[in-house]
Amino acid sequence: MEYQIGVISWDGIGPEIVAEAKKVLDQIGEKYGHVFHYKEILMGGCSIDATGEPLTEEAVAAAKASDAVLMGSIGGNTSTSPWYRLPPEKRPEAGLLKLRKSLNLFANLRPAYLYEELKGACPLREDIIGAGFDMMIMRELTGGLYFGERRTEEKDGVVTATDTLTYNENEIRRIAKRGFEIAMKRRKKVTSVDKANVLDSSRLWRRVVEETAKEYPEVSYEHMLVDNCAMQLVKDPKQFDVILTENMFGDILSDEASMVTGSIGMLSSASLNDTKFGLYEPSGGSAPDIAGKGIANPIATILSAAMMLRYTFDLDKEADAVENAVKRVLAEGYRTVDILPQESAGTKDAQTIVQVGTKQMGDLIAARV
Ligand code: NAD
Repeated sequence: MEYQIGVISWDGIGPEIVAEAKKVLDQIGEKYGHVFHYKEILMGGCSIDATGEPLTEEAVAAAKASDAVLMGSIGGNTSTSPWYRLPPEKRPEAGLLKLRKSLNLFANLRPAYLYEELKGACPLREDIIGAGFDMMIMRELTGGLYFGERRTEEKDGVVTATDTLTYNENEIRRIAKRGFEIAMKRRKKVTSVDKANVLDSSRLWRRVVEETAKEYPEVSYEHMLVDNCAMQLVKDPKQFDVILTENMFGDILSDEASMVTGSIGMLSSASLNDTKFGLYEPSGGSAPDIAGKGIANPIATILSAAMMLRYTFDLDKEADAVENAVKRVLAEGYRTVDILPQESAGTKDAQTIVQVGTKQMGDLIAARV
């Protein structure tokens, strides 16, 4: 098969980490008989420099014409870069918001997976970690409190601020369906998180999730209140497979879940709409402090490419091959600087650890797919 991939890569460490993800994809193509075509799309700081806009209509059209978009990161040093002296709607991040909106990317996926070899980076106790955990946070991205009506006004001499949280049943149904579909590709369990003991929007959420669940009889599901979920994530993260939740709860829970896995350089993400299209990107930013040094960790971007294989192209075998290659490279002791063990210097462990740069890490993973 042939696939068209839009590539956004020019800010910060973007060119370095995206090159490695392309290298791994090309290796997959060679091994499994696929051809990946790449089209460069300007977005963020590089687009501001070239066009004066963080995302042009031409770039949006190019993204829409692609089967999927693979992104490195956008932005620069927010204190020193001239991009941050521009009005907010002209800054690099405005390009990303515009792209999400233009493509109606309502479903955000962030895996939280603890690698055996990186257990040392997990702040949880050994007995809680056990054999590790592997969960997916599925967050609604375009509705709820962040998109509701808001105002600040003076009422009887008192300044009062109001934000509104609105969801309609269609918005809930489409994200719930996505959540159950993702669970079908995993361990077939959905934990739907809400605050149904207080909020009307959560009660509707719960009802629509229950209706949707009937279409997926193989998937077991449960409801959990958000405050309990925040506790359970640190008490027993192993219990979760897919956590399905609304925008603000997902914002908070996905950061909590990712924090217990270790380095930002390992965390992939995807934003999907109701077609097969997806925007795939590492969870971290453009890391201007290490850009151009050849030391950035490309694994989050490589794992984002694996998500693209699985969720947009339905190439599960190929996605498994990439994820297993990453596990092998870690098991063999290769580390970029951000995931070097801190405490084992001088111990037996330290002898088995080999520090590599961005390009070598990409080579090692590509060689093992
Ligand atoms: P950042 O994530 O870029 O960097 C935070 C720290 O993590 C830095 O020390 C950096 O070196 C390190 N880091 C990040 N990715 C790494 C990797 N792959 N390998 C090794 N180390 C890595 O966050 P920041 O410094 O707050 O933001 C820098 C710029 O990135 C800003 O302009 C910000 O707006 C932008 N940003 C973009 C996105 C996005 O593109 N979706 C997300 C977050 C931040």
